[in-house]
Amino acid sequence: MIRRTTEGMSDWFGMFPSETFGDGTCHFIAGMANTAVIETNNGLVLFDLPIRQFARKTFKQVRDRTKKQVKYIIYSHGHFDHAFGFAPFIEEIKKKGLNMPEIIAHENCIRRFEKYQMLREYHNWINKMQFASVKGRRQENLVSAQEILEPTIILKGNDATYNFELGGTHFEIYHDKGETDDSIWLWVPEKKTICAGDLFVSSFPNVGNPYKVQRYPRDWAIAMDKMIEKDAMYLAPGHGPLIKGKEKVRDALSITSEAMHFVHDEVVKRLNEGKWFEQIFHEMMEIYPEKFKNHKMLRPMYGCYQFAIHAAHRLYHGWYNSGNPTDLYPSKSEDIAKEFLKVNSEETYLNHARNLYKHGKLQLALHLLDIIVIGRTDSNSRVLLEALKLKYEILRKKSTQETSHIAANIIDNAAYQIKLKFKGMEEK
Ligand SMILES: [Zn+2]
Repeated sequence: MIRRTTEGMSDWFGMFPSETFGDGTCHFIAGMANTAVIETNNGLVLFDLPIRQFARKTFKQVRDRTKKQVKYIIYSHGHFDHAFGFAPFIEEIKKKGLNMPEIIAHENCIRRFEKYQMLREYHNWINKMQFASVKGRRQENLVSAQEILEPTIILKGNDATYNFELGGTHFEIYHDKGETDDSIWLWVPEKKTICAGDLFVSSFPNVGNPYKVQRYPRDWAIAMDKMIEKDAMYLAPGHGPLIKGKEKVRDALSITSEAMHFVHDEVVKRLNEGKWFEQIFHEMMEIYPEKFKNHKMLRPMYGCYQFAIHAAHRLYHGWYNSGNPTDLYPSKSEDIAKEFLKVNSEETYLNHARNLYKHGKLQLALHLLDIIVIGRTDSNSRVLLEALKLKYEILRKKSTQETSHIAANIIDNAAYQIKLKFKGMEEK
C-alpha cells in the first residue's frame, strides 16, 4: 500500500514527455527526476542522472536521440534521484573502451555521500516513511548510496563556479544553496538553457522537510534571482516538465523566488519582534498571500508553506521553541497523560474529542484523544479501543485533505500503525 507515493502527482513525477528542444541539440529526458543532455561537436554533457531504478529507461531515451560519447556528467546535488542512475552509461563506456567522463559536483556532495554511509540505516528508515510507507511492504532500496560514481571535478567553497568548453559550447556552473548545501546549476549561453536541478521543481520548494537536515529558503531565492538574470529561453527543472519561452521561465522563477523571500523575511521580522515559534507559525498562516496559494508553480505537492516556515525559523533559532520553561526538560508524555486521566475520566476526554470532531476541530480532537491513547497502556480498555478508532478516522480524513505527499505519508503511516493496534485489540 503505497497509495500516496504518486497519487495526484502524475504531472510532476515524470508523467510528461521527454523532448528535444532549442536547435535540436538539447534533450530533456523526463523522469521522476529529469536528466538534461546537451550535445556538442565533441560529445555530450549530462546534467543529472535518473533514480537507479529508471537508469535503463533514461539511457535508452538518450541513445534514441544521440549516439555521441558522454564526456561530462554533472550532479545538481547528491540526492538519490539525481546522482545514482549511472550504471548503463558506464557499462557502455567500458564495453567500448572509451575514456571515463568527468564527473562534476560540489565538495559538499562528497560529504553528503560520506554521511549516507554513516547514517545508512537511519536514512533507510526515514526515507521509507517519507516516500512510501512503513507498512511492511518490501521495497527495493533505491535511496541508499551503496555504489557511487565519484566526482572528478569538485567545486569548492560558497561562491564556487566552474566553466568549461566542449565542442564549441560553453558551460557555466554555479553553486548556490537551496534544497541542499551541495546544489549546483548550469547555464549554457549558446543554448539559452538553465538546468536547475532541485533549485527549481515546478511546485512549492521542498524546504523544511520534516525529516531532513536544514534547508535554505533565502539562498534558494537568491539562486533563482541569479537564474532570472540569465534571461533564459529554456528552464529544465529537477522535477516537472520543461519550461519554454523567456516570459514563462522568468515568471516561474520570479514567483518562486518571491515566495521564498516572503517566508524568510516574514519569519525574520517576527523573530526580531521577540515572538516564539507558535505565534510566528500561526501569524504566518494568516498572512499567506492569495497569489502564492493559487499559483501553479507553488502547488504544495511535496514541500509546502507550513514546512517552509519551520525552515526559515530553524535557520536562526535553536531547539527551545516555545518560550515556556515547562518545555525545557518536559516529563514523558505518557506520565503527563496519566495525570490528566486522574483528573477526569477517559469517557469525558473521549466524549469531548467526539464533540470537537463533530464541529470540525480535527486537530484539537487529536490532542484530546492523545490523553487516552498515550495515557492508557493496557490493551484491554474499551475506551482506548474507541479512542484509537476515532484517532484513525480523524487521521484518514486529515490525510485526504493534505496536498503535500510528505505530510500525507506521515499521517497515513501513523494511521496504519493505529489500525494495526486496534485490530490486534479486537482479536483478543
Ligand atoms: Zn530531486
